[in-house]
Amino acid sequence: MNQLNIAKFGGTSVANHAAMQNCARIVKNNPLTRVVVVSASAGVTNCLVELANTEMTTAQIDTVIKQIEDIEQAILRDLGSPAMVEEKLQALFEQLHELAHHEEILQRPDLKDILLSVGERMSSLLFSEVLNQLDCTADNFDARKVIKTDSQFGQGIPNIERIAEQAQKLLSPELARAVIVTQGFVGSDESDKTTTLGRGGSDYTAALLAEALDAQTCEIWTDVTGVYTTDPRITDKARPLPELSFDEAAEMATFGAKVLHPATMVPALRKNIRVFVGSSKEPEKGGTWIAKDCQQQPHYRAITRRKDQVMVTVKTPKMLYAPGFLSEIFAIIAKHNISVDLVTTSEISVSMTIDNPPNSVREKLNKATIEDLRNLCEVVVENGYDLVTVVGNNMHSEAGVSSRIFTAMQNHNLRMICYGANPHNMSFLVNGSHSDDVVRELHKELFE
Ligand code: ADP
Ligand code: ASP
Ligand code: MG
Repeated sequence: MNQLNIAKFGGTSVANHAAMQNCARIVKNNPLTRVVVVSASAGVTNCLVELANTEMTTAQIDTVIKQIEDIEQAILRDLGSPAMVEEKLQALFEQLHELAHHEEILQRPDLKDILLSVGERMSSLLFSEVLNQLDCTADNFDARKVIKTDSQFGQGIPNIERIAEQAQKLLSPELARAVIVTQGFVGSDESDKTTTLGRGGSDYTAALLAEALDAQTCEIWTDVTGVYTTDPRITDKARPLPELSFDEAAEMATFGAKVLHPATMVPALRKNIRVFVGSSKEPEKGGTWIAKDCQQQPHYRAITRRKDQVMVTVKTPKMLYAPGFLSEIFAIIAKHNISVDLVTTSEISVSMTIDNPPNSVREKLNKATIEDLRNLCEVVVENGYDLVTVVGNNMHSEAGVSSRIFTAMQNHNLRMICYGANPHNMSFLVNGSHSDDVVRELHKELFE
């Protein structure tokens, strides 16, 4: 393991020049930080997603492009418009124009991913210059050379061995010379076509690079002072957690704590890399350290909420005493690369929940999957649910742990209840319009 730290800065942290300067100071203050991963500036990826997925007139497209250009131009101006940076930014603007107006953009997932990659490619270019202007030698590096994935555009699956190979070959030799600034979220497949890792994927990039470079720590700098007992946007009673275990953090990320991309903890766990989460605006306030073991293992650590869940119930009398039926259902689900979260079964039916954020790759996969399932059995699809999860420790093994949770939720209709397959979570499917209240009431009972 190397004395190396990877620092990742999210969208709000690199939203403008002043925010980028805060980040640059954080980088400069830790000599162990040799790799920096940046997101696109706040709002840019949303605009790019809109351009990639929405039917628009030429004028509407130009309006969205202008929103992006205004953000980037303002940063460039604050940097004093150095010619080299301006020229490179201009080339990216041209690519942005070309792709946004491309007649096949709405149909071609491969083109969409090139378009989506432009946000991170612009912010990393500008952030390298911010570092250089603060006398910190920095180089902008194309993440696509290292983050190798399969060819699932929009949701590329990283190839861990190839990433390690490329990182050792291309990144390691550079680290003594300069701080390497690279793009989160962006990768490429084996034929070097641009791919992306799914929304929020920059955290995952940072963890993958930390793993590939044998780093000791990985810092996720964002707009909150750590991982909280629940999303501070749901209740102002949420408070930051000084420590979390890998297992707890993985559950939180999986079950909707947006502060960490769902897969972030996977590389960290494999290589025992400690992960820090803190605020780039207020680094002095500290944050959350996520490590293999924690000092304390409370029954209740946090509450998460994941929106936009669909519940799919498959039903057929053929299931009665028919071994192998479940495997047929899950074979279809596996074929479409869908991950199921909660599952309950009865004599002739199986209900499961899947993630379904609007406009996502998932949403499309789900539609195709449901069609396939219909060939096998009756399928009922229910929308409008959120998944609320309590994350903690030893939740199965001690009396009273779950009853306290149920007492707090007695006024709510719980559509589905699942004890996790491990002792770290308990999840409920609730009506989407009630989930704020459910989280607040649970938080009050368990943490206030
Ligand atoms: P970034 O752009 O830095 O990646 P994100 O918006 O992806 O930032 O993630 C940070 C946000 O995650 C916070 O502003 C907060 O609203 C949300 N969040 C959800 N759950 C939690 C939690 N348990 N602790 C902290 N933040 C959370
Ligand atoms: N820019 C990408 C997004 O907004 C990735 C990230 O910020 O992590 O989803
Ligand atoms: Mg994020």
